[in-house]
Amino acid sequence: MNEAMIEIIQPDDWHIHLRQEEILNTVSQYSSRINNRCIVMPNLDIPITTGELANQYKNEIKKTFQNNSFIPLIPCYLTDSLNLIDFEESLKKEIFIGGKLYPANVTTNSEYGVSNIEKIYPVLEILDKLNKNLLVHGEKNSQNINIFDREKYFVDDELIKIRKKFSNLNIILEHVSSKYGADFISENNNMAGTITPQHMLITKKDVFVDDDVNPHNFCMPVAKEEKDLIALRKYACSGNRKFFLGTDSAPHHIKDKVPNLSSKPGIFSSPCSIELYAEIFDQENALNKLESFASINGPIFYKLPVNKNKIKIMKKKWILNEYTTNNKVKIKNFYGGQELNWKVL
Ligand SMILES: [Zn+2]
Repeated sequence: MNEAMIEIIQPDDWHIHLRQEEILNTVSQYSSRINNRCIVMPNLDIPITTGELANQYKNEIKKTFQNNSFIPLIPCYLTDSLNLIDFEESLKKEIFIGGKLYPANVTTNSEYGVSNIEKIYPVLEILDKLNKNLLVHGEKNSQNINIFDREKYFVDDELIKIRKKFSNLNIILEHVSSKYGADFISENNNMAGTITPQHMLITKKDVFVDDDVNPHNFCMPVAKEEKDLIALRKYACSGNRKFFLGTDSAPHHIKDKVPNLSSKPGIFSSPCSIELYAEIFDQENALNKLESFASINGPIFYKLPVNKNKIKIMKKKWILNEYTTNNKVKIKNFYGGQELNWKVL
């Protein structure tokens, strides 16, 4: 079939990075072209740890849109020394969508993150009491742990501990990247996971080429083995309510992308993310499951209404520009310069 068109309920993006200033101004249009809501990550240079900072950031984001209906949702960046009164108040006022756990030093701007899970038990008690969600960057960072095993160690050493102590707390293992992590989500209650396009498209062979790193395919958590890619595709395309769309699109200036492990991690997929998801679901003969993954499972888990509008995606060949540019900004697009098979109308 050459010509095909699908119509789905307008998707949301349950995990994205929009950054600030000139990058924010450049990239936000890609989200507003398709999404009604985005969970925008709080790992800015000054992390979003208070309700006041969250409101300021929401206003900064909204100013970049002509479309006023777009809704940025912000989780609180959890730290060892969070102001619990402000946190609880801001959750009640829905200034925060939940709490975001970055273990210290696992990805961009995570140096203020949590050094020991037990230090945030009072924070988790508040989330549990208010029936709000914990969003997790699920990697354990230690010198002895191989970069490909960080998710597994986080599940075994940290997540199981949280799961046992707070059995009713809703936890999202974000950008789940391994079969091990996805199986854990599937087998445990009150768990969900977001899945990025890149973890269903590339493996470690696309990241580590001879002795070099391809910085444009380098993100945290890093892409893993073929078996992991296959498992993530299976879960995403199954219609399983526990899995939903979170692109983790993460723009960086091209000058911060260098061919070794000191490169800033992050893949910028916003210019073609829904198109890549459509391609994956098409390849898996599961286009009829795209709507639940992209537009229904997420709001149900977050206890938010499903969007009313629809979007159309057409099977049509086009070539994505290699870069997104704007004045001094130059960002490499994931799949930039390549032919894509689906296009949002
Ligand atoms: Zn992220």
